[in-house]
Parts: sequence; structure tokens; C-alpha cells
Amino acid sequence: MPSPYVKVEKVTDVAAVKNTYKPTHPGLFEVSYAEGDYNSKLVASRPYAKGEIICKVEGITPGPKRYTSVQVGKNDHIELNSDLVFMNHSCDPTVSLDTDTMTVVAVVDLKEGDNLTFFYPSSEWEMDQPFPCWCGSEKCVKNVQGAKFLSKDVMSRYFVTKHIQELLNERDSA
Ligand SMILES: [Zn+2]
Repeated sequence: MPSPYVKVEKVTDVAAVKNTYKPTHPGLFEVSYAEGDYNSKLVASRPYAKGEIICKVEGITPGPKRYTSVQVGKNDHIELNSDLVFMNHSCDPTVSLDTDTMTVVAVVDLKEGDNLTFFYPSSEWEMDQPFPCWCGSEKCVKNVQGAKFLSKDVMSRYFVTKHIQELLNERDSA
């Protein structure tokens, strides 16, 4: 089934996009649209305490690996079909996307308006579209390509899904 959610990636008229935008999780978080390609982000609509569940991940559909998909098993990928697809990567993330419990969890205390980001290699082994990271964090891994390309030491600083932990174990015991 094709995804019913349409991600607006290229924003040329911010006001027009905002006019027609309906948040998928009103009161919890919303897309902050910015002009240009891939410049939009997801921000908290209210404060969250560290460890708090921000939402359950619902309405997902299985699909091929692509730049919007999330890996949920060694060979399985899903589409989020919601505003969650706007969660950007950070090497110093504010949330974890836990595909084992299908929840989004705050990993730091969050204020209203804070950027919701997660560490993409937490769920992705080998990404469809790797990219250079400019997040500016001291912990920045520079090239975001998936967990396959990161040491166990680096990965140990982050929340890691079960399938990624298993793939790391297989890689390092080979
Ligand atoms: Zn980074």
C-alpha cells in the first residue's frame, strides 16, 4: 500500500506550506518548515522530561529501504507515515526512536520548541543515502552512513536497537 503521508521536502513558499499543514500529532510535536531542500525539522509542542515517551509509533507500513525509511529488523524497513519522518539526525540526539517498543522517547529534558532529533545509526545499518554531518557536536561522527561504519565504542554512546546490536556483534565476532 502506498504511504498516505506526503512529505514536503522542497519548500519554496513557507507561508503556503504552513497554511495547509495539519500536524499528525497535535499538541505533541510539529514540523517547523524552512525554505529550501531538507531544511525543515520537527519540534516539540510541549516540554518533555528525560525518559518520557513522546509518542507511540503507529500507522507504519513496510517498504523498501529509502531515505525516509526506518530499519526495524535485519532486513526489514518501514515508512513512518507521519510527521516523525521530519526528525533529523544528530550525533547529540534529543530523542531515541525505539523500533523494538515502537516508541519515541526523550533522552534529554526538552522545552517547547526544541528540535527532535535522533541518531540515525541507532536503527540504520547501511543507509540508502549517506550524508556528511555538520551537527557541530563534539561527538560528531562526520559521515552518517549507518552503524556498519562505526565502531562499537562509538555506538556504545547511543541508544541502539536490537537488530543493530546483533549486526554489530556479528560484524565484530567475524
Ligand atoms: Zn554530527
